[in-house]
Amino acid sequence: MDQNCSIPFNRSSLLGRELEYIFKTMTIGQIAGDQTYSKRCHAFLEQVLGVPKAMVTTSCTHALEMSALLLNIQPGDEVIVPAFTFVSTANAFALRGAKIIFADIRPDTLNLDEQKLADLITSKTKVVVPVHYAGVGCEMDVIGEIAARHGLSVVEDNAHGLFGKFRGRWLGTFGCLATQSFHETKNITCGEGGALLINDARLVERAEIIREKGTNRSRYFRGQVDKYSWVDIGSSYVMSDVLAAFLYAQLEAWETIQLKRQRIWNHYDNQLCHWARERGIGCPVVPAHCEQSHHMYYLLLPSLEQRQAFIAFLKARNILSVFHYVPLHLSPMAERMGGRQADCPVAEDRSDRLVRLPFYNSLSPDDQDRVIQAVREFEM
Ligand SMILES: *Cc1c(COP(=O)(O)O)cnc(C)c1O
Repeated sequence: MDQNCSIPFNRSSLLGRELEYIFKTMTIGQIAGDQTYSKRCHAFLEQVLGVPKAMVTTSCTHALEMSALLLNIQPGDEVIVPAFTFVSTANAFALRGAKIIFADIRPDTLNLDEQKLADLITSKTKVVVPVHYAGVGCEMDVIGEIAARHGLSVVEDNAHGLFGKFRGRWLGTFGCLATQSFHETKNITCGEGGALLINDARLVERAEIIREKGTNRSRYFRGQVDKYSWVDIGSSYVMSDVLAAFLYAQLEAWETIQLKRQRIWNHYDNQLCHWARERGIGCPVVPAHCEQSHHMYYLLLPSLEQRQAFIAFLKARNILSVFHYVPLHLSPMAERMGGRQADCPVAEDRSDRLVRLPFYNSLSPDDQDRVIQAVREFEM
């Protein structure tokens, strides 16, 4: 083992039959969207997760944009998102003119704090977007109950949570819509890609139209109309079958991938959590009723200064660890939208202190032990 060889934070790797399937799409001459492999991805997601309809998309960001279109978000509508999330969770709705309302996060799971949700709801609120951070489920029964009481739609941003469960039920099956990401940094990847899961069957037909540039092309190809035309607004959200071929090979290997990630996560936790607690460093909290997706392993240093020192300490040993989201309510865009008034002290605190350790499907036991040893050498 080369002690000087650097360990990245993330890298993608081939785990199944990716190249074979890509070669097949090319030889049979099907490289646009919704061909053999896209259909296989749809069937896979529908069967494994038990969702009425799944559609692969160009990204999770685009699946979120489709959600905003499907739910008819209009200028002035309010959409509640956690302050600690990726830009796209909010931006997809801001694109439709929505006012973004930032909710603080729970101190333990770093998920949208369901106890703070009711106070943020007004007569203009239309949607709440829980994000299952690190693939640990949000409190979906409480969130679902509050949303139902106020007539809100729930869209799960499940970019981290594919194959995670909450009270025995798959993440991505709670909202009327849920979005997946297959970006390079996620558990299952095709480089850039996503999926929209549709749990409310009434949204399926219009989702097909929005995804196909506002046309009824999907109905035409099924022989349900004799020509296709412009029937609604939409955009180009269909994934190429070349990427779907790569994606399907990864999906086929999902149990192998998830097992690898579970081992990596458990090894970090077994080796570091006790060490961390003795030093006042936090490690991930996974409630007993949540089966997580093993998307990431993070530590919470006592302060921003110590977090920065920790990242530099590992970097000097050729190990790349990274912080995560800058709270969205503190962003320049939120300032322009008036979001800085949001009161999200937990999001601000955790954002300053959180650091993610190298975590990818091909992380070798030797390299992981090098990371663990380096972490344990860090002194505050
Ligand atoms: C990665 C990610 C996204 C965006 O995914 P893309 O597929 O890159 O568009 C959205 N939300 C969350 C929480 C993410 O982690």
